[in-house]
Amino acid sequence: MPYKDKEKQRQYQREHYKKYHKRYRKQQNEARRKRRQQSKAALILYKGGKCEHCSVSYPYDGVYEFHHTDPNKKDFEISDSLDRNVDELFNSKEILKELDKCLMLCANCHRIEHARLRGELDEQGNSTGHRDRCS
Ligand SMILES: [Zn+2]
Ligand SMILES: [Zn+2]
Repeated sequence: MPYKDKEKQRQYQREHYKKYHKRYRKQQNEARRKRRQQSKAALILYKGGKCEHCSVSYPYDGVYEFHHTDPNKKDFEISDSLDRNVDELFNSKEILKELDKCLMLCANCHRIEHARLRGELDEQGNSTGHRDRCS
């Protein structure tokens, strides 16, 4: 221990932290991004590893989205849970319960599903001619 008392050490740590704050923050962001990626990859496997509508297995996890089949039963967004590590995710009954309320869809199928829910498409996927304003 290079310092005699703890106060000096704390001061050193504070200055050190300030100096390297940006770098730490960058590393922390990077670590967070990696953790979210790993957690999402685990949830994707849990949900079967492919889009539940088109059955395509995509090489990029960012394609997958979790769609709540009943918005009234939605307690939270799955993406809000991705900061937890994989063990925490699978030890959490709430998260697994929430996942079971979701379909895992690719971004395309998710858009189409919402279009159908808004009444833009009929059950066969044909356009009803009705469009909402975001197009
Ligand atoms: Zn799909
Ligand atoms: Zn959705």
